[in-house]
Amino acid sequence: PTRADITYFGAGPALLPTEVLETAAKALVDYNGTGLGIAEHSHRSELAATIINEAKADLASYLDIPAADYEVLFMQGGGTGEFSASVYNMVGAWVARQHAAILKDLGPDAAEDQVLAALRAKVESSLKLDYIVTGGWSLKAYQEATRLLGPEYVNLVADARADNGGKFGTIPDQSTWRLSKDAAMVYYCDNETVDGVEFPEFPKVLAPNADGTGPIVVADMSSNILSRRVPVANYSLLFFGAQKNLGCTGVTVAAIRKSFLQPAITQPSPALMRKLGLPIPPIVFQYEIIAKNNSLYNTLSIFDVYIAGQVLKKLLKTYPNKVDGQQAVSEKKANLIYSALESHPDAYKIVPHKSVRSRMNICFRVTKNGTVDESEKAFLKEATALGLTGLKGHRSVGGIRASNYNSIPLEGAEKLAKFIDSFAKA
Ligand code: PLP
Repeated sequence: PTRADITYFGAGPALLPTEVLETAAKALVDYNGTGLGIAEHSHRSELAATIINEAKADLASYLDIPAADYEVLFMQGGGTGEFSASVYNMVGAWVARQHAAILKDLGPDAAEDQVLAALRAKVESSLKLDYIVTGGWSLKAYQEATRLLGPEYVNLVADARADNGGKFGTIPDQSTWRLSKDAAMVYYCDNETVDGVEFPEFPKVLAPNADGTGPIVVADMSSNILSRRVPVANYSLLFFGAQKNLGCTGVTVAAIRKSFLQPAITQPSPALMRKLGLPIPPIVFQYEIIAKNNSLYNTLSIFDVYIAGQVLKKLLKTYPNKVDGQQAVSEKKANLIYSALESHPDAYKIVPHKSVRSRMNICFRVTKNGTVDESEKAFLKEATALGLTGLKGHRSVGGIRASNYNSIPLEGAEKLAKFIDSFAKA
């Protein structure tokens, strides 16, 4: 088949807009008549700086990220790297805050030992990282925090499997969340790629107070970023790998509140952290270092940032009202597919609960006749013959998953909805 024959619903890396790839293919050989390809130019060149700065500005414009308060970082290590980076940096910031408070409390004449003892006691009694586990990816993040810090510092706020027969597919009622007091962060995954569960909106119990104080909220938006409006000001950190809605694999974005980038108040000394038995970030994961170097502390793949930049320019050109425009299209496409599934309750079973269905990863079982296994095999085979590919569910859960990312055109979603209907009727 040719590219034009296929609508690819894979969960990531995802389909990229063809025109972006065509422009990028030329740029790989010769970037803007420079005689050198984009992947060959120095990451320290002016041209690279322009690509980084434009991508940052376009992202901020598209998502309305307040540039005065947030820094956009291009990092490496993927979403998985951010599971670790968020822990290191937010624990550091928490310790620095407690340290400053203790110094203030004990006064300038306090002995070093006395300060350290007070800080140790505070760490032992109060250091907590809160995790809301609603699917495979927040579970991985929770497990990584536990691995890095030890279980005593990690609090499972809620586990969606508990009230759903041991399976993901719901978001526990917020009134049951066991949030810690003054947690170093409250972490959740906005869209669970494997399980098809998406937070319908920002969780109300995590909303900031009127004076702007409130929980330190961190979210993984790897698989739904750029598809709907984000209340950025409610987050201290949000991150996402590029390979779903932004670009190709190889670059990870972190948008972080600037107050977390002030070393004097957010970075305790490595010596102090060692005395407390707490880890410090590897330098490539220290947000403040990456920010200070405009994402160029070490060699960054400028090609990946370039692709992300081209995708953003295309989005800004397509939607004069920016992310709101894409949001309307995303909802329309998801509704088409879910409606087709719902019209045939005897042939399909949608996996997650209706109130938390993902617009991005549509997970269902085919229950038409024979065993589910046989039905799904037939479904995948017939879909593939029509050019609808990448529909097999994640290996850990099976079933069918249609990933409805931004680059799936409306016609692609229509074609899938039509097939869902005709397969059920046949
Ligand atoms: N978070 C989410 C929501 C994801 O979907 C993924 C990967 O699919 C990850 C994190 C892990 O990302 P990476 O493979 O870039 O480490």
